[in-house]
Amino acid sequence: MKHYKIAIVGAGPAGYFAAQALQNLQTEELQFSIDAIERLPTPWGLVRSGVAPDHPKIKTVSKVFEKIATAGNFRLFGNVELGTDITLAQLQEKYDAVVIATGSHLGKKLGIPGEDLPGSISAADFVPWYNAHPDFKDFSVLLDCQSAVVIGAGNVAMDVARMLALEPSELDPTDTADHAIEALKKSAIRDVVISARRGPEHAAFTSPELRELPKLVHTNVVMEKGDIQAAIVRAGSEIEKDTKSNLDAMLLISEKEPTNHERTMKFQFLATPVEIKGSGKVEEVVFQKTGSDEKYSIKCGLVITAIGYEAAPLAGIDYDKGKVKNIDGRVKENLYVVGWAKRGPSGVIGTNKSDAADVMKLLVEDLKAPKDAGDINDLLGAHKVITQTHWENINATEISRGEPLGKPRKKAADRNELLSLGGL
Ligand code: NAP
Repeated sequence: MKHYKIAIVGAGPAGYFAAQALQNLQTEELQFSIDAIERLPTPWGLVRSGVAPDHPKIKTVSKVFEKIATAGNFRLFGNVELGTDITLAQLQEKYDAVVIATGSHLGKKLGIPGEDLPGSISAADFVPWYNAHPDFKDFSVLLDCQSAVVIGAGNVAMDVARMLALEPSELDPTDTADHAIEALKKSAIRDVVISARRGPEHAAFTSPELRELPKLVHTNVVMEKGDIQAAIVRAGSEIEKDTKSNLDAMLLISEKEPTNHERTMKFQFLATPVEIKGSGKVEEVVFQKTGSDEKYSIKCGLVITAIGYEAAPLAGIDYDKGKVKNIDGRVKENLYVVGWAKRGPSGVIGTNKSDAADVMKLLVEDLKAPKDAGDINDLLGAHKVITQTHWENINATEISRGEPLGKPRKKAADRNELLSLGGL
């Protein structure tokens, strides 16, 4: 029997699915001990810090993660940061293989004048703020204006726009951070424009997300029927199934009887942002009608870009275009990468399952004689490590605090509070 030790860096969906793939590859002859190293005191990655709080069903995948974590050969090392508390070289020395699953969490930039004005932020900051990510608990969002513009035509832009345009009391029965619910209840924002640089036929939204928009009960959702009809003509008859489904969903939205709520979420297409203007803070966004010279501007006090992500560099690893340089997930001798850090920020949570399974197959093929280089705990000494048991304490407390309030959980956003809820 051969017994290998594998380290996975990042306890998000890609990390858990890599662990699951290894668990599935185990036989009597081939055994794995899996250690997940996570910089936050909480695991689950984007399932905790990314998925919109009004989409609780998507978060039920956390049950799968907990099953993987309690299968017997998995240890969580939360509150342990690669590069600070432990180095990549140390992991590579101790483990038979190391898997990078750190995602990509830096917001891509538009690269236009005015982008750094106060009031211009990235979804990469706004989303973790409303999801109680400890690094963003003191982030401040300027919500004292009537209008906001969200740039991008993907599901993140849609999440962000919905969070701004929902009646905030709708967030009470969710696990939205308390600080965000409080701020959104005071928000003056009533008009949110989602802005796409291409036409509806090229939007990156997925149709389930579009189809839920007409169900919003306190928000007007506005799409111009002419925009969608023109896109249907441009798309022609040999249209892809997903594009057709999206356009059908958009046509339904555009044909819906107008509502007269206080809050509006409006889509604009073929609008390329060219400048953000304002004296001392955002006051307007200048757009160019894509494919023409025509310019116009929208007055607003908040701009949120949701135009994709890049991976934050880790020492000792080469990057290319915001991703870890790799061939089919192989990075170098005993180093692998999975998830968004490997393939870029695309796909839904489940996409990581097959992706990680493919990479873990290669990892197993590459394995040599098992190492005997001691335990990671030898390196961490007295460092405060959140183990699975500590995390289960945090999880249980958050859930029980949420119960009387009708929430799935009441999240703690403070790192020290999380450590103490864990029992450290
Ligand atoms: P995305 O789906 O790739 O969308 C990015 C959007 O940004 C595109 O519309 C893109 O337009 C636009 N964009 C890029 N650069 C731009 C620029 N310089 N100026 C203006 N627009 C620009 O990315 P995402 O929304 O960040 O989502 C990431 C992944 O997570 C996606 O696969 C998404 O489906 C998934 N996700 C899923 C859910 C869910 O299932 N509910 C929720 C959130 C996220 P072009 O096409 O013109 O480049």
